[in-house]
Amino acid sequence: SIQIKDVNKNFGDFVALENVSLDIPTGQLTALLGPSGGGKSTLLRIIAGLESADSGTVSIEGVEATHLPPQKRNVGFVFQHYAAFKHMTVAKNVAYGLEIRKRSKAETAKRVAELLELVHLSQFSHRLPSQLSGGQRQRMALARALAVEPTVLLLDEPFGALDAKVRKELRDWLRRLHDEVHVTTVFVTHDQEEALEVADEIVVINEGRIEQIGSPDELYDEPANDFVMSFLGPVT
Ligand code: ATP
Ligand code: MG
Repeated sequence: SIQIKDVNKNFGDFVALENVSLDIPTGQLTALLGPSGGGKSTLLRIIAGLESADSGTVSIEGVEATHLPPQKRNVGFVFQHYAAFKHMTVAKNVAYGLEIRKRSKAETAKRVAELLELVHLSQFSHRLPSQLSGGQRQRMALARALAVEPTVLLLDEPFGALDAKVRKELRDWLRRLHDEVHVTTVFVTHDQEEALEVADEIVVINEGRIEQIGSPDELYDEPANDFVMSFLGPVT
């Protein structure tokens, strides 16, 4: 699980997050949903350890992580404009995290083959990232993030730059992938339809505050306030 308690974050005198508390159960697929500038990426970066909170605590799987650097948190992350190693093949990109952790050649090869199969890229293992479509590249990024078996997977609008049709394909695929591997996953989106269709639970964030936490049905049937109501609907 991920436990966030009373997190505050200011940039200068701008309040980016105000008293954010959140408990994300192990294995859940959670969406952070809200308008631009609401604080979604800031919260995700604090969970990843890429940004530190001014006050409050973060713990991951029961381990107090507030002051741990990202590499000690056992999190995998994928950002919208994902930077792959351009000169390395798809297989090499996925293997990278295993190689720097000094896993054996045989173990690395086996794990990479499994991951490429999981993201349906087996036949592209020898291509360079530049020879993939945008959606394929995002799937490679997910395989790379999953390679080191993170306890938590953090995705910041991983499909944001793609066209609507590919987004929908990847969204369905993410849901199926999650059903298969069950890794605790938090993904950021400003697309209410994406959150409603994919997530087990949705956290609505606006102006640095949590407006509501609930299942897609709960949010849709019983929005906590006018903001949630107008942000969620009408779904087109
Ligand atoms: P978007 O959907 O546009 O990505 P977001 O919900 O991810 O928005 P954040 O990136 O978390 O929003 O930003 C929250 C607020 O904090 C914004 O007003 C942003 O301008 C501000 N902010 C974020 N990072 C910094 C920074 N490093 N310095 C100053 N202000 C920042
Ligand atoms: Mg953002």
